[in-house]
Amino acid sequence: MKKIVAIVTMSVTCLALYAQTYSYEEVLSLERKVEGRKNSDWAMQQPYVIMLSIDGFRYDYAERYGATNIQSIIDSGVSTERMIPSFPSKTFPNHYAIVTGMYPGNNGLVSNEFYSREKDYWYNIRDKKAVTDASWYSGVPIWVLAEQHQMLSANFFWVGSEAPIEGIYSTYSYPYTSRVANEHRVDRIVEWLGFSERERPHLILGYFSLVDDAGHRYGPEHEKTKEAVLEIDRVIGKLLKGIESSGLPVNVVLVSDHGMANISRGIVLPEVLDLDDAKVAYSFPPMIYQPDSAKLEKLYNELLKVENIDVYKADAVPDYLMFENEDCIGDLVLISKAPTVILDKAKPVSGGTHGFNPFDHEEMGAIFYGSGPSFKEGVEISPFQNIHIYPLLAEILGLKYSHEIDGKSAVLGGILRK
Ligand SMILES: [Zn+2]
Repeated sequence: MKKIVAIVTMSVTCLALYAQTYSYEEVLSLERKVEGRKNSDWAMQQPYVIMLSIDGFRYDYAERYGATNIQSIIDSGVSTERMIPSFPSKTFPNHYAIVTGMYPGNNGLVSNEFYSREKDYWYNIRDKKAVTDASWYSGVPIWVLAEQHQMLSANFFWVGSEAPIEGIYSTYSYPYTSRVANEHRVDRIVEWLGFSERERPHLILGYFSLVDDAGHRYGPEHEKTKEAVLEIDRVIGKLLKGIESSGLPVNVVLVSDHGMANISRGIVLPEVLDLDDAKVAYSFPPMIYQPDSAKLEKLYNELLKVENIDVYKADAVPDYLMFENEDCIGDLVLISKAPTVILDKAKPVSGGTHGFNPFDHEEMGAIFYGSGPSFKEGVEISPFQNIHIYPLLAEILGLKYSHEIDGKSAVLGGILRK
């Protein structure tokens, strides 16, 4: 009897796993194509860029875990020991900083979860209505800039790609779902390279969450995190083979949004503080919204006494964090240091997380590796901030822009072949 139960349980698990991933045909049916777009004659003469983000891939993972395919990109191109995320070192603010060249305070996405006073609405990464609403996103994402130049782009899940920013989607894109196998994402990217010259995207963006998932659950130094790194490395090896057989001048840029730190201690905010009717965004950095100034002052003074939390009024966050936004940043910003996190309710704290100040947590360090015909070979550069990638991509693809951004072309200009 026990055996039967075991077998039944197993097949239910298999079914559940099977249901989690789409077949390749199902994946293709999800693709959104903007009809009628073609590369201009000029665009067809430009090189190609494939930029992939491996969420939560810490700066030391490739070497630590022996990721040989990723290492081949490092060896044949340009790398940095550590790319510095923007504050807060969270997923949405940083992915969007990379593709706009703007700090989270300026690009609209100040955190994974925050409140807009103007809209009287919460942005949350799980709220499809918010995620697909272009009014949350400032700047001109690099794929929008490409399309404005009549150069086609394709997008497998980059933050912001589900919203018509400046009224424009990537020519090829996908609504986010974790049910597309990593391998299928790469298969599609290689297929895009096989499109006719007029229809082939010159800028392709892709995203993988596997390594971040493992880092959160098990911590950055766990065997399971190593397994996730090696799985993504295998998939990237497949991509490199596909690029090679395409014979096209393709540049590969591998980035991550942030690293990962071990955590072991939690402060339950409602237990150390009477929040009264304040609104709280708990995604790091926790932010408290309290329009009543007397109540706000009381909260501030109480928080000053709480150990292991640094509290700042919105206008007093240290300048170097570049965290300014009148509409969306809370009246109070709460910052803790690893291994301490701030919680909404009591729960076990283990594994890893990110969001901490990237300037005093080396573990928040991300990756930047670039290789291909536009990049110099075998160059390692000093740590730099992720907002400088935008001007670099624009230069490789020959895209001009005149709007103001935070990134500077001089920071990474020297890593390209002239
Ligand atoms: Zn992330």
